[in-house]
Amino acid sequence: MSLDGTYDDGNIFARILRGEMPAARVFEDEHVFAFMDVFPQSKGHTLVIPKHSRARNLLEEEPQVLSELVLGVQRVARAVRAALKPDGIVITQFNGAPAGQTVYHLHVHIIPRWEGVPVGRHAGGQMADAEELKALAQQIAAQIT
Ligand code: 5GP
Repeated sequence: MSLDGTYDDGNIFARILRGEMPAARVFEDEHVFAFMDVFPQSKGHTLVIPKHSRARNLLEEEPQVLSELVLGVQRVARAVRAALKPDGIVITQFNGAPAGQTVYHLHVHIIPRWEGVPVGRHAGGQMADAEELKALAQQIAAQIT
């Protein structure tokens, strides 16, 4: 999928938002939903998505939704830091398949990094254990302020 296209209601994140697919929930408010990436590039890899949006990427998003999304990302990233004590945190976002995007509901990656620990492959590594993800999600959720 390129930068142009129509929003697909059947995309995996839309299904997670509708409760049709499970996810390890970290945080949720009226604007955003945060959950663990099931193919984590590092321990604690978290995704934040707008709840009320049909934007496939950042370029299509409404300013107000984008503002709330960034605030949500900061809030969750602070909780990731408090919970897991990483040395650094990558906050990233892909627009269009050639850029690496694989799911077409706008989302932001929070990827904690530790000195000397290589980051995993994007959207293609090993699927994480559901119970481990749940435990990490709880650990991060406990640090949300
Ligand atoms: P993108 O490639 O679009 O930037 O990111 C999509 C992300 O969603 C990838 O990091 C991928 O690992 C993750 N992902 C794909 N399918 C699922 C799923 O069913 N559940 C969760 N929690 N993450 C998913």
